[in-house]
Amino acid sequence: MMMFDRLAEPSGDALHGVMARFRADPRPNKIDLGVGVYRDETGASPVMAAVRDAERLRIEHQDTKAYQALAGDHLFIEAMTDLVFGVDGPAVREGRVAAIQGTGGTGSLRIALELAKLAAARTRLHLGLPSWPNHLGLAEAAEVELLSHRYFDVEEGRIDLAAIEESADAAGEGDLFLLHGPCHNPTGADLTTAQRASLHATLAERGAVPLIDAAYYGLGDGLAADLELLRDDVAASPRALVSVACSKSFGLYRERTGILFAICASAAERDRVQGQLERISRTLVSMPPAHGAATVALVLTQPGLRASWESELAGMRARMLALRAELAALTNTAPMLRGVDREKGIFKLLPLSRDQIDRLARDHATHMAPSGRANLAGLKAGDAERFAAALAAI
Ligand code: PMP
Repeated sequence: MMMFDRLAEPSGDALHGVMARFRADPRPNKIDLGVGVYRDETGASPVMAAVRDAERLRIEHQDTKAYQALAGDHLFIEAMTDLVFGVDGPAVREGRVAAIQGTGGTGSLRIALELAKLAAARTRLHLGLPSWPNHLGLAEAAEVELLSHRYFDVEEGRIDLAAIEESADAAGEGDLFLLHGPCHNPTGADLTTAQRASLHATLAERGAVPLIDAAYYGLGDGLAADLELLRDDVAASPRALVSVACSKSFGLYRERTGILFAICASAAERDRVQGQLERISRTLVSMPPAHGAATVALVLTQPGLRASWESELAGMRARMLALRAELAALTNTAPMLRGVDREKGIFKLLPLSRDQIDRLARDHATHMAPSGRANLAGLKAGDAERFAAALAAI
């Protein structure tokens, strides 16, 4: 009999340790660069105005709590499909897009891996490192074979294009190849459009399937450009899996809202895939949660809410750009900040040892993940200079 006393000690989640230490730090000027949520210049992670208004509307108008369909909220699915690919986008027009609501980006990625495994028991996932740690966790949980390569040279502070290309060249038929959407986590360093296109060409030639993880659209080159990148990805691949999280770009983290698109080779294939996606989800979450999805559907389809959301999202991006410019001007003080104004989104990966990260926390009340990932959005107005000075001092 399997009993609890046979369970191994679990390895703790590094970020949760950082969050606990930050909370326990009594110093008023402490800085939290840990958990990956967007923060404004006061340090708050606010509910977006459009989301707040949409929630109010939803509470007024909802008439049931009965289960929704297995695929989720069809208005959400339609609105997200339109947002990401355009209603008249080629794959949509050709009826090749299967879609299912996922519980956040995490849940969507898990469904993607399960789908790939259903198609081929020995599924392999190519993953560039460093990456979001949950990519490793998801591969392990779904029992997908992981083949890793170096995405980023931390010491040099640049993308290792040769290693990425080598891994794509070695990809086999049906392998998954993970690509971050805009704003790579944890490095903020994104491939250029040309590099990405060339990678897709290799993957298509090899019969490998891109698994695209979009979690930060709108925070890179702006909403339209960031979505264009996803459309280009899909145009370049006969088949693709695209996970789109609503956690960051709609600030809906705890509402667990996201969607998985499977771009199929034909409309007939799409119908089969759609059925399998729903079957997979049935034992993971059964019918998905309603609130976040209904909120996003309202935000995207009510013109006033849509305009408000786009403008607030643009404001978040503008704050990150301004912060990055401010930090770039401090590279004389802290040379390891170089590249910060080329990188995108909320993160920067710093070449810091564990010891240096401990000293940042102990001596400078600056808390960050042991990996060296700094969530720059955690810098409040006036913190950038102090952060650079702390980096110089350790
Ligand atoms: N992918 C990446 C790269 C992320 O950084 C995140 C958020 N930390 C996600 C996916 C999805 O997160 P969630 O499950 O909270 O939507």
